[in-house]
Amino acid sequence: MEEQAAQKKFAEIAEKDQKLKKNMSKIKHKIAVISGKGGVGKSTVAANLAMAFSMHGYKDRVGVLDVDIHGPCIPKLLGAKGQKCQITPLGALPVTGANGIKVVSMDFLLQNQETPVIWRGPLKMQVIKQFLSDFVWGELDFLFIDAPPGTGDEPLTVMQTLPEMDGTIIVTIPSEVSEEVVKKAVSFSRKMGIPIIGIVENMSGYTCPKCGETVNILGSGGGKRIAEELNVPFLGQIPIDPKICEDADKGVSFVASNSDSASAKAFQKIVANVESFLKAQKEARESD
Ligand code: ADP
Repeated sequence: MEEQAAQKKFAEIAEKDQKLKKNMSKIKHKIAVISGKGGVGKSTVAANLAMAFSMHGYKDRVGVLDVDIHGPCIPKLLGAKGQKCQITPLGALPVTGANGIKVVSMDFLLQNQETPVIWRGPLKMQVIKQFLSDFVWGELDFLFIDAPPGTGDEPLTVMQTLPEMDGTIIVTIPSEVSEEVVKKAVSFSRKMGIPIIGIVENMSGYTCPKCGETVNILGSGGGKRIAEELNVPFLGQIPIDPKICEDADKGVSFVASNSDSASAKAFQKIVANVESFLKAQKEARESD
């Protein structure tokens, strides 16, 4: 009897795995945006990179999965705040944010914005798996996964569950403390066997709009230095721009509304670098 129950359980797990694999196989590129610690602009980078890609010939072909169960902020950054997921016979539908970006976030499932989600690991792992398998993402070119900072349950679940992930983008700021934590993020990716697409140095210098002088408020060049030291690609530096904060508060996409700014151009450069990485990765795979 016990054996029968165990067999049934195994069959159920295998079926769920198959469903997840099939759902994710429709998405060409899956990229996790991670960081060693909070507050370095990881969600900002994930959301703006998704928008920069969607404006670069991938309109309606980009999705963002917000895996931050406790502090989801991707919906706001992509103009999708306050919406709810539609449930259909085929599964739940992602919410469509700015420029046709598909968004899935815990934020859409909360009854009440003020009540915190108090969940332990297994429950969080279960909901992340459901985000990947039970939502109708459809055919996409890119899925960006915004994982909470550090190396805890949520990023671990994403890394272990997502089949054929293209790689991770590691976000840091140019200060020493952050350099140390970025090393942890690099070794986390390596231990999980996930390629590192590269490091992004965010909040990298501020240029005064009045006098044109650039001040390196948080230092400069730390991301590049650590990328060289650890032998991983460096994707680019994003300067500090107060409009990034303002737009986030307004629920407007920064790269879409300030496309001529130095920071938006930095995002466009990162898009080109990610594309080059993916192209080289594909060629290397084909020549194997
Ligand atoms: P994380 O996801 O790493 O916790 P967030 O993306 O939430 O960090 O960013 C933290 C804060 O810093 C937000 O208020 C965001 O608007 C701001 N921010 C991020 N990057 C920049 C930047 N390049 N210039 C100005 N403000 C930024």
